[in-house]
Amino acid sequence: MTRLALTGARLLDGNGPAVAGATVVVDGDRIAEIRTGEEAAAISADRVVDLGGRTLMPGLWTCHFHATYHELGSRPNAPYGDEYPPGYTALIAAKNLQTALALGYTGVVGAGGAHHIEPAVHRAIVDGLIPGPRLWPSSRELSTTGHSNDSVPWHWGMPAPGAVRICDGADSFRQGVREEIKRGAKIIKLFVTGGHGTTAPKDRMEMTADELAAAIDAAHQRGALIRGHLVNKKAILLALEYGMDIVDHCDEMDDEVIAALVETGATVVPSLHFPKHFLESYGSGLGFSADAIRADLEHMYDIIPKAQAAGVRFVLGDDYGAVGFPHGMYGAEMRLYVEHAGVTPLEVIGWATRNGADMVGRGDDLGTVEVGKLADLIVVDGDPSADIGVLADSPPVAVLVAGRVVAGEL
Ligand SMILES: [Zn+2]
Repeated sequence: MTRLALTGARLLDGNGPAVAGATVVVDGDRIAEIRTGEEAAAISADRVVDLGGRTLMPGLWTCHFHATYHELGSRPNAPYGDEYPPGYTALIAAKNLQTALALGYTGVVGAGGAHHIEPAVHRAIVDGLIPGPRLWPSSRELSTTGHSNDSVPWHWGMPAPGAVRICDGADSFRQGVREEIKRGAKIIKLFVTGGHGTTAPKDRMEMTADELAAAIDAAHQRGALIRGHLVNKKAILLALEYGMDIVDHCDEMDDEVIAALVETGATVVPSLHFPKHFLESYGSGLGFSADAIRADLEHMYDIIPKAQAAGVRFVLGDDYGAVGFPHGMYGAEMRLYVEHAGVTPLEVIGWATRNGADMVGRGDDLGTVEVGKLADLIVVDGDPSADIGVLADSPPVAVLVAGRVVAGEL
């Protein structure tokens, strides 16, 4: 196997502060050695690349990703996910995943997609048919008849599956979850409440308690992760009690919710970039209450540092691909948390690396730069632990997956 030595690195290993003058040796697909100080110089390798003080760090993770979404919601008379025909949508998904990879996101976790395309594209990546990141492909978005993303009356009952799968009753949710897993989903998405960018109010429950319990149980029974669009406190606490793995949005986070998150070890995806972007771009022309969105944002900006200090696991990811919010804008999300939510650059780097790998149960071999782990790495100009804009504003110099350069160059 080829030994690649990356010397002269500012090493940001994902566990602590940056260390200058480091050497990292990659042997095949894994990290074989890490040297700092005096011993960084004497190294034997097939290829030596001097990074000249650039930062070497773990590949990034985006953990709420809709690969199939492109101008979602731009066709008012079509169900979500049916903006384009399925074949075209598959190409959109491949393109969006390649965009994420080129921007340094080597780990991508799905949060709902159309037509079972994410599992199919995942297979194409694994088979080497197309380049792409490590992908946890998502199911369609499971919810009930007439919920806020199932509001096109004339499509009701027509065989137009789109991004939403309708289930009614606990048994129907069990069957829905099992079928999505059979089609290749490794993570199930539920639409549990309104709020956070949907037309329904946040206190509206889109599923009953027995439907929620059945869906979570069915996913775990087959070894899949499960996540939910969860905004109001009552629904969040109920979902956590039933074993929900990932809380998307979590707008009504408070002390009680924080305690439940810490106790269960569930992950939170605040995804504040989407509401912030829409508020700034459209203001009161949103069709939603701009004041309510602003209040939710302010609340989250205030409570996130408290939750972070308590040990809640946060990750990145948002509704890129919704109309007016295109794929590729991922980096600005990190800046948002640093500038508005009182999170330090090192903390948000933890969200973007280690926490993503931990969320999907792969913290043992991904998410940090440590000897023995898979060499999913990025090289960037500057020091993101001092200036998060380094990750937000330009693509990495090089992106490696399992020791192989997949974007940029060394
Ligand atoms: Zn979403």
